[in-house]
Amino acid sequence: MLFVDDLLGGKAMSLERHWTTRSRQLGRYVVPCCVILGTFAAAPVAAVKTGDHVPRVLILYPYDERLAATTAAGEAIRTRLLQATKARIDLFSEFLDLSRFPEAEHIGRMARYLSAKYADRRELAASAKVIVAGFSSFTAEEMDLPNDVVGAFSDFDIVKTAEMARGLQPEARHLFIIGGSSEFDRSWLARARADLAAFSKDYETTYLEDLTIEEFTKVAAEVPRDSIILALTILKDRDGRNFMPREAVKQIAETAGAPIYGPYLTYIDYGVVGGSVVTFESLGKTVADLALEAVAGKPISNLESPQTYVADARQLERWGLSEKNLPAGAIQMFKEPTFWEQYWLAAVFALAVITFQGTVIAGLLIERRRRQAAETESRHRLLEVVHLNQSATAGALSASIAHELNQPLGAIRSNAEAAAVILRSERPDLELIGQILVDIQDDDQRAHDVISRIRGLLKKRSEIDWQEFDLNEVATSAIRILRGEAERRSVVVSSSHTSRELPVRADRVHVQQVILNLATNAMDAMLEVITTEKRLLLETRLTTESQVELSISDTGRGIPDERLASIFEPFYTTKPHGTGLGLSIARAIVETYGGKISAANRPGGGAVFRVVLPLARNG
Ligand code: ADP
Repeated sequence: MLFVDDLLGGKAMSLERHWTTRSRQLGRYVVPCCVILGTFAAAPVAAVKTGDHVPRVLILYPYDERLAATTAAGEAIRTRLLQATKARIDLFSEFLDLSRFPEAEHIGRMARYLSAKYADRRELAASAKVIVAGFSSFTAEEMDLPNDVVGAFSDFDIVKTAEMARGLQPEARHLFIIGGSSEFDRSWLARARADLAAFSKDYETTYLEDLTIEEFTKVAAEVPRDSIILALTILKDRDGRNFMPREAVKQIAETAGAPIYGPYLTYIDYGVVGGSVVTFESLGKTVADLALEAVAGKPISNLESPQTYVADARQLERWGLSEKNLPAGAIQMFKEPTFWEQYWLAAVFALAVITFQGTVIAGLLIERRRRQAAETESRHRLLEVVHLNQSATAGALSASIAHELNQPLGAIRSNAEAAAVILRSERPDLELIGQILVDIQDDDQRAHDVISRIRGLLKKRSEIDWQEFDLNEVATSAIRILRGEAERRSVVVSSSHTSRELPVRADRVHVQQVILNLATNAMDAMLEVITTEKRLLLETRLTTESQVELSISDTGRGIPDERLASIFEPFYTTKPHGTGLGLSIARAIVETYGGKISAANRPGGGAVFRVVLPLARNG
C-alpha cells in the first residue's frame, strides 16, 4: 500500500512507512486495492461558473492489471460508484506493480511520481479520505494502520468454511488443516487453531504444517475418504519455495483423498469444494459504499465485507456431495445448466408443437368420428329410401306380377280339371295323369319363383349386405321381374351379356333396384312413342381391366339435351304421377359402391343409361 506524500502529507508518509515494513510479509496475496478519495474541486473554470463539485476517486492497485483478484474488485468499485453517482464522478486508477518491485526504493519512487502527477490537480488535498480493502481486520491490526485510514475488511472465516464442510460431509470423522511455512502462513495457522478449537473436538484433527509441497500432496492423497481438509495459505513451503497459495492448493487437490475447502474465492476453480468467502462484488460494493458516504461528507468507519458461501458444482459432483446440504444462499459456480435451463426455449417450443399436434390429431379424430357417424346415418337413410323405392317399384309392377302369377295358377287349375275328367273315365290313363301332375308341379314352381322374386324385390335392409356376385346374373333376374310388365306394354326386351363372369362387390338387391329403375323409366319413355318396335336392350360388358358397364337403352323419346346433365337431380320428373326420385336413388346406390352413372341420347333415337362399377377381381 502506498500513498503519495505530497497529496496526503504526513498521513501518506505514515502509510508508506507501514507498507514498506509489511509489504514483503504480506506479499501480493492480501492487499487487493486502496482507494483515495479526492476532495471536491472540479476543473477551476467550470467550478466557478456552475458551482458544481465533482467528486474524484483514485483507485490504487498494488499490483499490475493482470492480477485478476484485485482488478475484479476494482471493477466492482468502479461499477458501483458510476451507478450510484449516475457517472457524475471522476475516477482515476494507478497500478503500483508491487509484486515485481517490492523494494522500498520503488515505493518511494512511485510516491514521488504520483505526487508530481496529481500536483496540478489540487483535488487530492490533505482532507482526502483513504479507504483500504482486501485484507482482514486481523492483518490490519498486524499492520498497525493509522487511525484515520478506514478499512473495508474481508474476514476469512475458517469456522464458517469448516461448518459448510460439516454440512456437506456429515459422515466425516477426520479433520486436516493445511498451512504453509511463511510468517503469514504461521500466523494464519495459529489463528485457525484458536478459531477451530471447539469445532475440531468432534474430529480426529491433524494440522499439516512444516511440510514441503510434495509432502503436503502425498499426505493429502492418503487421508481417509471420511476427512475434511481445510486449506489456509501456503505462501512458502518448508523448503522456502514461494507459491501462489491457490497454485499450491491446486496441486494438493488434484490427488487429495478427500474434499478440500478454503476461505478464499481465488481457490475456487483450483480444486476446492468451496468455502465462506468475500466475493469481489461484495468487497467492491463495501468499498464503494464507504467512498460514497465519504463523498457525501458523512463520517465513515471500518466495515466488514459480507461473506458468501461459494461452492464449485464440479467438485460437489466429483466427491458425490449433495447440493441440498449446502448452506442457505450458497452460490454454486460452474454449475452445468440443467436440461431445462439449457433448452427451455426449444423444450417450450417442442411442447407447444406437441400440444398443437395433439389438438389437431384430437380434432381430426373427433372430425373422423363425426364423419363416420354422419356416413352411417346417411347410409341408413339411403337404405330407407331404397326400400321405399323398392316398394314403389313393386307397386308399379303389381299388375304384371299378378298377371304373371295368374298364368301358372290358371294352368294348375286347368290341369287339375283335366286330371279330374280323366279320373272319372272308365279306364283312366294313369300315364297321362302322371304327366299332368308333373305339369302342375312345374307351374307351382313358376308361381313360387314369381313370389320369391317379389319377396326379393321387397327385401328390407338394415345394413348393406356386401356380397360378390355376377352382374350378368342380376341383370337376368331383373329382366325376369320385368318380363311381364314389358309384355303388357308390348316392349321387346333383349339382353346381351359377355360370356365371362363379371364379379362386382355390392348389395345384390340394390344393384337390381338400379336396373329396375332404369328399365321402368325406359318403358315409360316408350309409352307414347308410336314406333314400329319398342325395344329395351340390356347390355353388360367389361370396359377396362377393372371396370364393368351395364347399359340400358330404349327406343323412346330420348332426353332433352339441356336436361342431360341434371337429370339425376332429385324431384325432376315429367310424369304426371312421378316422384322424380328414381334416378337420384339409382345414382346414390351406384356411388355407394364406387361406381358412376350417366345418361345420353342414342343417335338413332331413344336414351341410353350407363352404369359403371368396379370389377371385384380380375378373371
Ligand atoms: P320419375 O320416374 O318419378 O319421373 P326419375 O328420377 O326416375 O323419376 O326420372 C326423372 C325423369 O327423367 C323422368 O320423369 C323422365 O322425364 C326422365 N327420364 C328418365 N329416364 C328416361 C328415359 N329412358 N328416356 C327419357 N326420359 C327419361
